[in-house]
Amino acid sequence: MEIQKTVKEMYRRVDPHFKHKLLQVPGGETFKLCYQCGTCTATCPVARFTDVFRPNKIIHLAKLGIRNVVYSDSVWLCVNCYSCTERCPQGVKVADVMRALKNMAVEEGYIPDFSRKFLENILNTGSVYSIPKSRISRREALGLPSLPKTKLEDLKRLAELMDLSKYVESEAKKSG
Ligand code: SF4
Ligand code: SF4
Repeated sequence: MEIQKTVKEMYRRVDPHFKHKLLQVPGGETFKLCYQCGTCTATCPVARFTDVFRPNKIIHLAKLGIRNVVYSDSVWLCVNCYSCTERCPQGVKVADVMRALKNMAVEEGYIPDFSRKFLENILNTGSVYSIPKSRISRREALGLPSLPKTKLEDLKRLAELMDLSKYVESEAKKSG
């Protein structure tokens, strides 16, 4: 009985159409060429520092139709450096596949909290994280030029046009 329940649960998580959907998303076109050599993961600077991010494993799960990869925070750890794409012997555009998975996640309303925070910071300060005053003073002390100013009004207008604020609002509601 327990085994039946487990098998049922596995089937619930597997979407046989998932790979076809990913193939349709711009950037996802090449993922089926992967033959799991692991070169992408061996090259990836992020995978070097964490066990939770393995690009070859993510691609494998996507091929199997385990659609939970879309709701996994680990995909968002990819910094799109393209090192993997340079070295993949199969011509899989790994970085683009990661981006396609992120776009699928956003379409389905999923964005990890840390990415919402990044977005909030960008909209409020123009940077991914708020640069502390101590850092600015240190730059001055070292004689480094001032950091370029972001035109926040332009950024806010762009965010309005792209309807980006809704992603930040969901985060504010959750913490409020
Ligand atoms: S390097 Fe290319 S073929 Fe090898 S595991 Fe990564 S995506 Fe697959
Ligand atoms: S693009 Fe992403 S998956 Fe590829 S090496 Fe860079 S961080 Fe890793």
